Amino acid sequence: MSVKAIEITATGGPDVLVLRDVAKPVPGPGQALVRIEASGVNFIDVYVREGRYPAQLPLIPGQEAAGTVVEVGDGVTTVKAGDRVAWCSVLGTYAEYAVAPADRLVAIPAGISSEQAAAAMLQGMTAHYLSHATYPIRKGDEVLIHAGAGGVGLLLTQMAKSLGARVFTTVSTEEKAALSREAGADVVINYQTDDFAVEVRKQSAGLHAVYDSVGKTTFDQSLSVLRPRGMMVLYGGSSGAVPPFDVMKLASLGSLFVTRPTLPAYTASRAELETRATDVLQGIAKGTLKLRLEHTYPLAEAAQAHRDLEGRKTTGKILLVP
Ligand code: NDP
Repeated sequence: MSVKAIEITATGGPDVLVLRDVAKPVPGPGQALVRIEASGVNFIDVYVREGRYPAQLPLIPGQEAAGTVVEVGDGVTTVKAGDRVAWCSVLGTYAEYAVAPADRLVAIPAGISSEQAAAAMLQGMTAHYLSHATYPIRKGDEVLIHAGAGGVGLLLTQMAKSLGARVFTTVSTEEKAALSREAGADVVINYQTDDFAVEVRKQSAGLHAVYDSVGKTTFDQSLSVLRPRGMMVLYGGSSGAVPPFDVMKLASLGSLFVTRPTLPAYTASRAELETRATDVLQGIAKGTLKLRLEHTYPLAEAAQAHRDLEGRKTTGKILLVP
C-alpha cells in the first residue's frame, strides 16, 4: 500500500521538497509505525535539504512529529496500537506514516493536542537543555538569546526568565520585538536598526552566556559581549556556518568557553529524554510554558514552509499536517 510523503531525491533549494506516493513503512524489531497527525518544521530540515548534514538519498525529511501508534514491531512492549505519541531527532516525519524506534517515543499527556506535542518536542527540549544543562542559568545571570522571536527563541526566553535571568534578545522587526517582549525578554534589540553588541555594552558589564543560533553573521560580536569566563553557546547557523577561528581569541577575551551542542547528545539516554519531554509537555499543559503555533501548512506545501522559515517570515512554530 502506498502513502503520501515528501521525498527528496537530490539536495538543493525548497523545490526539491516534492509530495510523492511511497511504500507504507513497516515497523522492524524495536520500532513502531505511527500515523502522523502533525510534523514540526525545523531549521535542521533546511540543513538536511541543502546537504549541509550529509545523508543518503532519497530521503523523507522532517525530524519531529506526533500521532497515533498503529502497529508495533517485534519486541516492543513500551507502546501499543492506539497510543498517542510524539518524538524527534529521527528522520522521516514529513509523511502520513513513519516508523520510529519505540524507545524514542514519548507519551502525549492528556490535554495536549497532537499539534502542540509536535510543536514542542524539538524546540522545547532544545530550549530546555540549553538553559538547564549546556549553560545552566542561575538567578541574576545576564544572557543574550539571538532570534528571540523564533521557535527556539520564544521558548528559551521563557525558560531563562523562569530561571531568574535578565534576558537580552535580538530580532529583525518591530513585530518580532513585541513577541519577544511578550515572552519575557527584558532588553529587545532590533539588529536591523541597532548594533546589538553596542546596545548590550550600554546596558551590561558583560554577559554570562550568549545563546547563538544565527552563527556566521553574529559569532564574533557575540564573543565580544561576554564577561570573562563567559559561555558562548553556538547551537545553530541560520545565517551560515561559522568559519574556523583562532582559539587564542578565547584567551584574549577573558578565558571564554565555546560549545557547539546538539539535542541528540542531551537526550541520549531514555531517562534524560523523559525528564526533558515531561518538563516541556507538563509546562504546556499547566500553562507555564506558552507555545506559539504560528502557521499550519498542508504536507504538500512543505516547500513554502521552508521558504517562509528561511526567509525570516515565521515566528514561533510552523507545522505540516498530512
Ligand atoms: P527560527 O524560528 O529561530 O528561525 C530562524 C530565525 O533566525 C529567523 O526567523 C531570523 O530571525 C533569524 N535569522 C537571522 N539571520 C538569519 C538568516 N540569514 N537567515 C535566516 N534566518 C535568520 O528557527 P528554529 O527555532 O527552528 O531554529 C533556530 C536555530 O536553532 C537554528 O539555527 C537551528 O539550527 C538551531 N537549533 C539547534 C538545535 C541544537 O540542538 N543544536 C536544535 C534546534 C534548533 P530574525 O528575523 O529575528 O533575525
